Amino acid sequence: MSEILRLAIQKSGRLSEDSIKLIKECSIDFSSSGAILKSTAYNFPIEILYLRDDDIPGYVADGVADIGIIGENVASEQKKNVLTVDKLGFSRCRLSIGVPKNMDYQSAKSLEGKKIATSYPNILSDFLYDNGVKAFIHEISGSVEIAPSIGLADAVCDIVSSGSTLISNGLKEVDLVFRSEAILISNPTLSEGKKKIIDELLFRITSVKTAKNTKYILLNAPNKSLDKITKLLPGVKSPTVMPLAEPGWSSLHSVVKEDQFWEIIGKLKEAGAEGILVLPIEKIIV
Ligand code: ATP
Ligand code: ZN
Repeated sequence: MSEILRLAIQKSGRLSEDSIKLIKECSIDFSSSGAILKSTAYNFPIEILYLRDDDIPGYVADGVADIGIIGENVASEQKKNVLTVDKLGFSRCRLSIGVPKNMDYQSAKSLEGKKIATSYPNILSDFLYDNGVKAFIHEISGSVEIAPSIGLADAVCDIVSSGSTLISNGLKEVDLVFRSEAILISNPTLSEGKKKIIDELLFRITSVKTAKNTKYILLNAPNKSLDKITKLLPGVKSPTVMPLAEPGWSSLHSVVKEDQFWEIIGKLKEAGAEGILVLPIEKIIV
């Protein structure tokens, strides 16, 4: 392949580490030392640009970069001409309304006529419109949560992950405005060659994501329980069953979804499974 795909990721911030990790888990090797602004992968036709996250949608829309990793919140706020190619499952956060903790907040209507500080005026304006509320939006670029205590606003619309920043500023979270996670965006008019590279990258990303949500499980079971256990662990196709040296016993190997794990373990033990081992999986190709 002669073409090279340009991927923009955040240089330093809450998206950076997981973006780099995801690409490396796709077996793409590149240098990611803090000082550089651009690096070319050694074993995949991709070049990585390190930028401020807010600049990424614009660069992807203009074709300076072909694809990029950003938060959905930034994509939604900027409304640039880019496609969302995939959701990536990290940097999960939400944009919420925060008000002083003694304010009586019933619904979005309680914001009528109020002044709301935010770095996300477009997303907030859509939320207010959807709820039929007229309020004043005061755009500020950082430290939004201190605005009410210094008399700059009556409420905020800001990013929340645990809520502790709001609480330490005397605010309470009262309404959800937008849920966000990291996404992969792309320029809408790429060459066939670049689309092919994206397809290969997406194939790898999907196998990494599937593997993360799945564990490899090995256990010993009496032969009379094998039917029951096989039904609990259907695996990718069906479990592997091998005889143990001890007569009447087998070893069973399969995969299990992380979110069903604890529920299934209990049922396996009830069914007579012993010596259960659970291992991480690096990649799954289905
Ligand atoms: P830059 O210097 O690149 O402009 P920034 O300060 O604007 O960085 P960060 O705070 O690093 O941005 O956040 C980047 C993105 O990470 C946000 O747009 C959001 O999608 C996500 N994010 C923000 N806060 C959190 C959080 N507390 N937990 C998880 N994800 C978050
Ligand atoms: Zn930013």
